[in-house]
Amino acid sequence: MSTIANNIAKVATRIREAAQAVARDPDEVRLLAVSKTQPAEAIRLACDAGLQDFGENYLQEALEKQASLSDLSVTWHFIGPIQSNKTKLIAEHFDWVHSVDRLKIAQRLSDQRPAHLPALNVCLQVNVSGEASKSGCDPQAVYPLAHAIAALPRLRLRGLMTIPEPTEDPAEQRAAFARLRQLQNGLDLELDTLSMGMSQDLEAAIAEGATWVRVGTALFGARSPASPIATAAPPHE
Ligand SMILES: *Cc1c(COP(=O)(O)O)cnc(C)c1O
Repeated sequence: MSTIANNIAKVATRIREAAQAVARDPDEVRLLAVSKTQPAEAIRLACDAGLQDFGENYLQEALEKQASLSDLSVTWHFIGPIQSNKTKLIAEHFDWVHSVDRLKIAQRLSDQRPAHLPALNVCLQVNVSGEASKSGCDPQAVYPLAHAIAALPRLRLRGLMTIPEPTEDPAEQRAAFARLRQLQNGLDLELDTLSMGMSQDLEAAIAEGATWVRVGTALFGARSPASPIATAAPPHE
């Protein structure tokens, strides 16, 4: 078995066991393969091994990979910080956006979503950990923002997303994910998605209701910290 197929099998086992531990149906939890900084060839191998959903953080890098993989049927997810001058290409080239954190970005994505494509699936990113992590809206803003986004014609608000402050303590991991679930439960909207959990903390996220886990390192191996792409996150506006 190839390394990627082996890693997929290991992650699938972790997902299944985490779901069973809390009596959830493992099929409710979907695996989003985070392929940022990985070459297109790695995505091709992961596709051959059965994955279909891929998450990218950097627009230019993603567009290049999409162009060289256009023969594959991939569902593309944008998961990185969004500058407003990038929304048009994101609206044109992705199926999901997990990292919407303000109304201006949501409005632009809706306005710019091409008419021949279905409504763009989006999640509202929430900063559940306070000042330490910078991306995501304030928990207090979730209710008005979610309702405003849900009303936009060319977006389909699916739920909430978070990247909590990293911690090794499973109880702290669960507490952060529980906050996202509680915020979602407080919304009177039809939502079916909680995008939370990564390589280190997917078990805690699944225990608290994750429906997408976004996994990079555990599938593709460590990203090179020296990669210029890896450090080229756009500044937050
Ligand atoms: C990089 C990244 C991930 C994956 O992180 P790993 O620790 O490599 O699994 C998940 N979500 C987002 C938003 C990311 O930027």
